[in-house]
Amino acid sequence: MAFLAEGIPRGDSFPLPVPGLRHQGVNSALEGERGEEAASPISPIPPLPCRAEDLFPFSLGRTERSPGRCIGVGVKAALDKPFPYLNLFQSQQEPVWLHLTGPLLGAPWETAVLFFSAVRHSELKCSSSLAAAGPSFFRICNADTDGLMSGGDMAKPLLGHGSTEGEPSITPVAGRTVGVLGSGDFARSLAIRLVCSGFKVVVGSRNPKRKAGLFPSAAEVTFQVEAVKKTDVIFVAVFREHYSTLCDLADVLAGKILVDVSNNTEINHHKESNAEYLASLFPACTVVKGFNVVSAWTLQSGARDGNKQVLICSNNQEAKRTVAEIAQVMGFTPVDMGCMASAREIENIPLRLLPAWKIPTFLALGLFLCFFTYNLVRQVIHPYIRENKNKFYKIPVEVVNTTLPCVAYVMLSLVYLPGVLAACSQLYYGTKYRRFPDWLDQWLQHRKQIGLLSFFCAALHAVYSLCLPMRRSHRYQLIEMAVKQAVEKKMNIWVEEEVWRMEIYISVGIIALGLLSLLAITSLPSIANSLNWREFSFIQSTLGFIALVISTLHTLTYGWSRAFDENQYKFYLPPTYTLTLLVPCTVILAKVVFSLPCVWQRLLRIRRGWEKGRYVKFILPSATGEYSSGETSSNV
Ligand code: NAP
Repeated sequence: MAFLAEGIPRGDSFPLPVPGLRHQGVNSALEGERGEEAASPISPIPPLPCRAEDLFPFSLGRTERSPGRCIGVGVKAALDKPFPYLNLFQSQQEPVWLHLTGPLLGAPWETAVLFFSAVRHSELKCSSSLAAAGPSFFRICNADTDGLMSGGDMAKPLLGHGSTEGEPSITPVAGRTVGVLGSGDFARSLAIRLVCSGFKVVVGSRNPKRKAGLFPSAAEVTFQVEAVKKTDVIFVAVFREHYSTLCDLADVLAGKILVDVSNNTEINHHKESNAEYLASLFPACTVVKGFNVVSAWTLQSGARDGNKQVLICSNNQEAKRTVAEIAQVMGFTPVDMGCMASAREIENIPLRLLPAWKIPTFLALGLFLCFFTYNLVRQVIHPYIRENKNKFYKIPVEVVNTTLPCVAYVMLSLVYLPGVLAACSQLYYGTKYRRFPDWLDQWLQHRKQIGLLSFFCAALHAVYSLCLPMRRSHRYQLIEMAVKQAVEKKMNIWVEEEVWRMEIYISVGIIALGLLSLLAITSLPSIANSLNWREFSFIQSTLGFIALVISTLHTLTYGWSRAFDENQYKFYLPPTYTLTLLVPCTVILAKVVFSLPCVWQRLLRIRRGWEKGRYVKFILPSATGEYSSGETSSNV
């Protein structure tokens, strides 16, 4: 292993003879990224002991023996194209390697002026801060002038199979040649991204002359057979239907890694997965399924702006590791999905339409329909039948606006109801180890989506309410009232109680919406991951419950004394808000009961493992500090 241990004094600058490249402040970029990456268990990365301008635009990739255990990207600092990222990777679990990737490994060494040396993770941990570690930490050297490596050494990759005994051998992936079969949307985006990540790309097309212009100049576009000959790793970016047309290439493809990126048009479309089909056509090749969950758009725009995970599976560990490393250098997070049998599942993933949202959406739609019909009967049908008044104009705005808060409010209470039912079950059976029924399990798992839909309906209700005075019907009604008042010669129509009711109603509603927004924002993975467990449960549980209580106040102030007004019972139907109060009030009441010390203590003990009727044995230590032979049984 070639370690270049000497460092540079802080602030020293090195010449950067790379024309036309703009360098961002890496240290400030590091600080910016910490917030975003705070969720991952990565120890803080101190500022680099060199100025931003000293950093050469390449990317540092991470390789380890088990790519599936990748923790993530520690730092990313966007530099200019065609070297978009500077990556420092750090793992807390086991020593990992930082190694040089990007164009430097493959490029002629005379153009590689600066580079980082490989640094063992243990050294990273030893130094409390990189700055404190001073000049001995990173080695940034001028390869031409330092003379630390001979020209011959320079021709070899810095990290490679020549590692010292006992150290993991690392195959440098960036800089290697990667093949792409096909010249469509996906192939083009893939080629661009591979080139940007420092790979040499050779594209195999049936018509290279026509397609060459679509690819970056750094990528070589040639005939399929020529492309396949030049590389060991080939991305097959053609549709399954056309796999058989590649059979002529079977001989040249023998022994190579084929990456199947294909998707289907329907879930479980074929008996066997596309990857298995490809493997059956090319038995002499090693097939790896991967990259199909990444869209061409994500590939082009960078892993930052799209889904970062690349699901990979194969029956060959070595091939899987190679593809995982390529994905990692490209800025994606490879996820090891095991053997080829998982390919079918991986191929189904991009075809699923919001699977976690199905039940909550149907629930919201069902509630909406029920409340809408109920409100329609009360607000439109009743006046039409009883008073022969045409109030159908109310349907698009008013009826919808009285329905939305009902849905939002009930949905919010449904977020907390399964928790109450789970607690009841635990109290009843005196254990937390008994499985909940499936429906309750499902319900508990969908709370986030139910909460988000509640927020969505509440936000719509707010917008609708703000727009109410804009309606022409509202203006006519106002004028009508003013005329009536003038005719009746009424000077003062101010009703103090109504004024107060409205003020409180609006204020409480705004607070409830604010709290719901907070809940919605903190349920987003990027925000949720930046919170520790206590912060998350405080916001989602405590503040969420407060939001439910405030929403109840909002509903009660809306109803005020109308619940006792006979005229409000149209067709003997009670006002809608009285119905909506049922579930939330049950939840609030249950929460109040659970907070009673006798109930809470029991629940707490159950949640810490206590079980009704089970005895836990304690062996008491003797006075001498040794364990006595006597056992004490205790039903804690
Ligand atoms: P595309 O634009 O239609 O490109 C397909 C390419 O396949 C063609 O450009 C063609 O390139 C090549 N090909 C080879 N043999 C062929 C034949 N016999 N008939 C027709 N074309 C042939 O499709 P794509 O969107 O790039 O998708 C390619 C693969 O990537 C598919 O399996 C797809 O499921 C997968 N994928 C795509 C996306 C995406 O966002 N587009 C995302 C995930 C996965 P030459 O004419 O140069 O040979």
